[in-house]
Amino acid sequence: MAKRTKYVKPEQREILTAEVLASKQISPNFVRVTIGGAGLAGFTPMGFDQWFRLFMPGRNGLRLPSAANNLWYAQYLMMGKEQRPVVRNYTVRAWRPAGAGEFGESGELDIDFAMHGTETPACGWAAGVTPGGQVGLLDEGIMYQAPQDSSYSLLVGDESALAAIAGVLRSAPRDLRGAAYIEIVHPDDAQDLGEPEGVQVNWLVRTNPTAAIGSLAQEAVRGAELPAQGVYGFVAGEQKLTSGVRRHLVEERAIPKADVTFTGYWRVGKAAG
Ligand SMILES: Cc1cc2nc3c(=O)[nH]c(=O)nc-3n(C[C@H](O)[C@H](O)[C@H](O)COP(=O)(O)OP(=O)(O)OC[C@H]3O[C@@H](n4cnc5c(N)ncnc54)[C@H](O)[C@@H]3O)c2cc1C
Repeated sequence: MAKRTKYVKPEQREILTAEVLASKQISPNFVRVTIGGAGLAGFTPMGFDQWFRLFMPGRNGLRLPSAANNLWYAQYLMMGKEQRPVVRNYTVRAWRPAGAGEFGESGELDIDFAMHGTETPACGWAAGVTPGGQVGLLDEGIMYQAPQDSSYSLLVGDESALAAIAGVLRSAPRDLRGAAYIEIVHPDDAQDLGEPEGVQVNWLVRTNPTAAIGSLAQEAVRGAELPAQGVYGFVAGEQKLTSGVRRHLVEERAIPKADVTFTGYWRVGKAAG
């Protein structure tokens, strides 16, 4: 099988500026922040699990690196702790082009924050932000890459990957077959994903507070009936969830390594910054 690169990167990359248009608690553990403004005109939607680096104000407001390539990180480090923005990774939950927006004439991008308290840099920002707040955005493209010869997509994740799985299900061909397993904190955090008819979406509610995050998803995948061939796996969320599911798929289900995309979105006990 041809080797695939890990990402489909956007053709042009630059740090865009945007302003907060709205912020709303949409379910017990999710806050949706909508950004827009003239600065987002340069954003190119790619669908699927398109993700980006979100630059939020640091201790002294929002200062953005100027580099359009990977040098942004060196510039960020050189700014020093007092001047640096907060940078975290997020997914496009929805994109409405200019003229089709809910809040004005500019393009609009929704970000769904899975809230794990209000004290961490990103969740704290999402909890308190009001219209007019400024952010920066650096597009990173998509990771979902079902091989041409796959016939079944298995999508697995926790609440941090809800937007990615939703994006895949919205962008995928309508004749896609597969299943999604999404671990969430509360039944009301489930969302309408508009999935193709041939995809079964399973919401796994973490009712036992002492159970390890990701254990429900791992157990569900172990018990899942999968076709003997043609399975593509997309696994995202807490690090141990993703590595555990990937190991199971590769070692026990004999799915070729190249046919499983797995990405640790976060790690228990470790800040992303
Ligand atoms: C490609 C990609 C796309 C992502 N898309 C989204 C998205 O659309 N929505 C979203 O909510 N998240 C998304 N994430 C995950 C998000 O970047 C992390 O959860 C991030 O660490 C949150 O930043 P923070 O400042 O709130 O917490 P941090 O300062 O990074 O971490 C502080 C503490 O919180 C814990 N923590 C971090 N994230 C979580 C969590 N989700 N649940 C429980 N505890 C946590 C850490 O273990 C640490 O102990 C994505 C990550 C990647 C790599």
